[in-house]
Amino acid sequence: MTQKVRWGLIGATTIAREWMIAAIRAVGGEIAGVMSSSAERGRNYAAEFGIPLATTSLDELLDNCDAVYVATTNDLHHAQVLAAAKAKKHVLCEKPLALTLAEAREMVAACKAAGVVMGVNHHLRNAATHRAMRDAVAAGKIGRPLFARVCHAVYLPEHLQSWRIKDPKTGAGVVMDITVHDSDTLRFVLGDEPEAATGMIQRAGMGSGDIEDGALGVIRFRSGLLAHVFDAFTCRYTRTAFEVHGDEGSLFGDNCMTQRPVGTVTLRNAQGETALPLDHENLYERSVRAFHAAMRGEGAPAATGEDGVRSMATALAVLEAARTGRETKVDPGL
Ligand code: NDP
Repeated sequence: MTQKVRWGLIGATTIAREWMIAAIRAVGGEIAGVMSSSAERGRNYAAEFGIPLATTSLDELLDNCDAVYVATTNDLHHAQVLAAAKAKKHVLCEKPLALTLAEAREMVAACKAAGVVMGVNHHLRNAATHRAMRDAVAAGKIGRPLFARVCHAVYLPEHLQSWRIKDPKTGAGVVMDITVHDSDTLRFVLGDEPEAATGMIQRAGMGSGDIEDGALGVIRFRSGLLAHVFDAFTCRYTRTAFEVHGDEGSLFGDNCMTQRPVGTVTLRNAQGETALPLDHENLYERSVRAFHAAMRGEGAPAATGEDGVRSMATALAVLEAARTGRETKVDPGL
């Protein structure tokens, strides 16, 4: 592919503003257009970022791009991805893919039938910390993995305290927002699949009505490993962490559940403590680079549509378990 990939942004969004526009441009893509439901917001956004086309028409955007980045509120991803697939455009969709597993599977099937690449923007797979932990686990550095612990509790910045914690129809709440990332990162690092989950949710007052702003989940994997996930929007002073404990060693990832290319990983075993060497790189640039390669027929996106279905299945099982008080099967239905 000699020409630049022309990306259409579906949604005039914060994530594109803060990370994805720069990432796409940094790896040789161009932003051909942005679609917003508000003509004025779209025009201002396009002007701010030097984007040639601002439109309220999805068809017009699709006519002017090769690939779309879908980052609207979660309830809109399904219809927009189906439309993009129908127009034979490659799709990088934000997480959670949709509100239900049936919708998410339909999106994956539609992209497959259209012969277009589909990826989901689980950025944490691209972090040097998680890649190093995955390599260490696969190389047997901690023996048999028995437990994992994820602390992904943060303080949701004021400028994001909108639909995520206020509007139930968007698939709001911390579980669909953050637990999906934990689930994907655990699958990636462990090379294992979740089979059941339990969970409890917390409503500490940031979320409106029934919307949870904190959660604790326990996920059992096929190997028997138990993983504990702690997710919150309400904790100002936590440090994020990702740990895996095996019968011959433990991995401590510190400050690594983040969008920034930072963090450390320590291996602790009979020889003592060793800091794993890390080659930090912008997570989103790595994601787009892999996506561009997949468009050329070279490999797969960092996280595929199927990975997006699987991460959702775990998050939905945690929510269901919290609702019923019962251990719930994780069944992506793939
Ligand atoms: P935003 O709240 O910034 O944008 C979501 C939608 O809200 C936009 O499509 C836009 O509608 C509308 N909107 C934006 N700004 C305004 C405004 N000032 N007034 C009224 N409406 C507005 O969402 P995020 O960027 O935080 O998240 C978007 C998606 O990306 C979600 O699916 C989320 O889960 C995911 N995400 C993923 C991350 C990752 O690292 N993988 C990180 C953050 C988010 P319109 O397009 O019609 O203008």
